[in-house]
Amino acid sequence: MSATMDTALTAAWIRRAAEWVAADAARLTRLDAAIGDGDHGHNLTRGLAAAVDGLQEDVPPGKVLIAAGRAIVSKTGGASGPLYGTALRRAGKSFGDAEEIDAATLGTALKAALDGIVELGQAAEGDKTMVDALAPAVAAYQATLADGGDLAACARAAADAAEQGADATVPMQARKGRASYLGARSAGHLDPGAASTALIMRALADTVTGTLPGAETAIEG
Ligand code: ADP
Ligand code: MG
Repeated sequence: MSATMDTALTAAWIRRAAEWVAADAARLTRLDAAIGDGDHGHNLTRGLAAAVDGLQEDVPPGKVLIAAGRAIVSKTGGASGPLYGTALRRAGKSFGDAEEIDAATLGTALKAALDGIVELGQAAEGDKTMVDALAPAVAAYQATLADGGDLAACARAAADAAEQGADATVPMQARKGRASYLGARSAGHLDPGAASTALIMRALADTVTGTLPGAETAIEG
């Protein structure tokens, strides 16, 4: 049973996130069309495709994330590019030169990613942004870690919380980003960035869970 995430798994996460976002790009773009400018799915698909193109597997996991973050900043248009790019670069930096990332190290990196997004975008929970998915994900990850959960359990708790956090953006009124221009009319729609964050967190959970024997039963049961 793998208690850590190495370079291959880190790269596998980025690949899976890219695949899932590409597969769901039309939905993400539709969500963004309702309260923004209708580019989120395509923006992020392009950025993640560039990250996949630049993947190197002869460097430590931190370097994988830093390179992916740079690719995303340069190729993803819109507000979400710099936000996701910063998140991945901060997470990668927080890994340092470690070759094997354990549950505590990944938890610290996810918190660093959240802090990077909040520093850059100045959004608080409740503003109807990706922060409404990532902040509860980080909290759930830390709570599971404190209860003695392993890497996969922590990542699954984070993904569950991200999905719930994204769903909870529906009734919110946007206070940051393009959707905030709509004022009260932004309520009643799922935030596209929160939706993509939930996908990326589920991709992480499935990537680290996939290495564990009996993982399928754990997910279904
Ligand atoms: P743009 O709004 O520039 O077209 P995207 O459509 O790619 O960019 O991304 C929109 C998403 O970015 C929103 O749904 C929201 O989750 C996120 N977002 C926008 N502004 C902020 C911010 N200041 N802080 C955090 N997230 C933000
Ligand atoms: Mg947009």
